Amino acid sequence: MNKAITFAVVGGDLRQAKMAEILSCDGHRVLTFALEKSEMPPYVRQVSDIRDAICPADCIILPLPVTGKAGFLNTPLSAEVCPLDEIFRLIRKEQTVCAGRVCDDTREVADKYGLEIIDYFAREELAILNAVCTAEGAIAIAMDNTAITLCNAKILVLGFGRIGKILAHRLRGLGADVHVSARSHADRAWIKAYGYKPMNTSDLGGKLKCFDVIINTIPAPVVDEDLLREVNKNCLLLDLASKPGGIDFSAAARLGLHAIWALSLPGEAAPFTSGEIIRETIYNILHEKEESSWIT
Ligand code: NAP
Repeated sequence: MNKAITFAVVGGDLRQAKMAEILSCDGHRVLTFALEKSEMPPYVRQVSDIRDAICPADCIILPLPVTGKAGFLNTPLSAEVCPLDEIFRLIRKEQTVCAGRVCDDTREVADKYGLEIIDYFAREELAILNAVCTAEGAIAIAMDNTAITLCNAKILVLGFGRIGKILAHRLRGLGADVHVSARSHADRAWIKAYGYKPMNTSDLGGKLKCFDVIINTIPAPVVDEDLLREVNKNCLLLDLASKPGGIDFSAAARLGLHAIWALSLPGEAAPFTSGEIIRETIYNILHEKEESSWIT
């Protein structure tokens, strides 16, 4: 972004703290609120009254997820307790408001004040780059929770979406024997074309015994008790999918299998990179807004 503007970074975790720092390094004026537990360089101004952050801002950046406890701003790095209603009441319609994973209840509060909240978590570029952080986090967990190297390990990735694609690529780079499941013919053709071994997600029965690691990225219950019975006891099962997840964890526990449900990896595995990704996405949003204002 060429033009320097004023950002208010309000609430959030290390990702927002890092983002505030880099926005400032880019030459913008940055005011933060409810990030006081993070170490901030002196050129980022931390304010203790939310009005001092919001009122002068051209763009207000709220966290990912925006909501912590129902109706309240998500503030893991602060002792502040902020009802979203109070924040939205302060925002003027001409200010740009970006927030992550905006639920219906939060949107309803914003609607009450006639505010448009742009959900940066819904942006494809963020989802793709987040998949890199997620894949790296998953690989770290797999390394920490197996007694073998991933090199030469037989690994099954369930799903060939954003995370599945990046994960398969990185695992192959480590020398793993990578199998990938997908439900569409086209995706299985791509899997083959990339040199991985394709499997049909709806036809996994009788094929799971040989794997050292199975990583699920499908947000639907695909690995049920019958399939789990086939999995060998030394296999690590890693579920990356958001709720409801793809692995039957109670069945896995009953069968004595090692299963881990690893969520929120980008923020945990790479908070700084995640902050950079959010910053890039916000720039794209502002750029598009500017372009559309030229057209209208
Ligand atoms: P994605 O690009 O939408 O990929 C999802 C994959 O699952 C696709 O291959 C899709 O196949 C397949 N799929 C969906 N429903 C299916 C079903 N009922 N049966 C069989 N296959 C099905 O999603 P993503 O970005 O890779 O994310 C995957 C999951 O990880 C999501 O739940 C996401 O919220 C979560 N996530 C987790 C983390 C973390 O830290 N653990 C971070 C980011 C995202 P089609 O293409 O045929 O539909």
